[in-house]
Amino acid sequence: MTPRVVVLTGGVGGAKLVLGLAQILPPSNLTAIVNTGDDFTHLGLAISPDIDTLLYTLSGKANAAQGWGREGESWSFMSALRTLGGADWFQLGDGDLALHILRTDARAQGQPLSQIVANFAQAWNVGPAVLPMTNDPVATMLTTDEGELDFQHYFVARRCAPVVRAIRFQGAAQARPAPCVLAAIAQADAILIAPSNPYLSIDPILAVPGIAAALAGAKAAVVAISPIVGGQAVKGPTAKLMAELGIAITNTAIATHYRAVLNGLLLDERDPPADPGVTFATADTLMHTLEDRIRVARAALVLAEQISKSRPQ
Ligand code: GDP
Repeated sequence: MTPRVVVLTGGVGGAKLVLGLAQILPPSNLTAIVNTGDDFTHLGLAISPDIDTLLYTLSGKANAAQGWGREGESWSFMSALRTLGGADWFQLGDGDLALHILRTDARAQGQPLSQIVANFAQAWNVGPAVLPMTNDPVATMLTTDEGELDFQHYFVARRCAPVVRAIRFQGAAQARPAPCVLAAIAQADAILIAPSNPYLSIDPILAVPGIAAALAGAKAAVVAISPIVGGQAVKGPTAKLMAELGIAITNTAIATHYRAVLNGLLLDERDPPADPGVTFATADTLMHTLEDRIRVARAALVLAEQISKSRPQ
């Protein structure tokens, strides 16, 4: 039987795994629950970076070399914006703007984000379900040595340079899981946590009331793919952030962080085989090529299946 798989994901790192899963599962068997803590309003536009990264990746439009945005993008809007002295710290490509403008317009007409994303996915023949974690506003806020910054000002404007002391998810306590999120978790045969940033991409999802409890109570095994390869994060601020928060950059720390929901950890074969405190397997988890993405997706599903089979029926 083909498993029904749910994957919790952020942007670029997580989308690599979701693309691998999409190669080996029928579309109707795959649901991605996506972080919206990075969402923000910029120049009046509603922007959902992680959701858009996943839509671009699954529809073959992502700019692989750049690591974000669209392939073959043009930049007339940004050029014109600069001549007028407009804020240019956040890059908005001409094609990318279409998503933001349509989303902003649909939101103004009262459509929930989940419906807007489903419409985009359908227009681009994206088969797997792409679900925002919530339709309610949640904003990842970082307490830094430069004061409190929202995610995009920390990540894009300040390029992760400020030292982070604490992270909070504004609005999360009042947020409700988006439609289908809890049902997908309850019906899943395997639940994966992508190798996304645990603190900035996965924690906002777990902060939405009801989601962590659904994972802990799910019949499926919950398996995380570690974002650490060779004692370092592959990309982005994960390792810097862990050091600043006083957390050791180890797989044990990742497993400990997820302990309330986790049954298994897939860790990289380059890292010391120290027992992370949960059932684990090792693989080459570095995802450069499509074959790499498929290999990591398969290894994570094999571990989830092993854990499920070892459970008393
Ligand atoms: P963002 O939202 O665009 O910053 O991306 P994510 O949070 O989804 O992913 C960032 C994380 O993905 C970083 O912590 C990286 O270490 C991890 N990552 C990126 N590429 C890979 C990879 O090929 N293998 C593994 N194991 N982790 C990766």
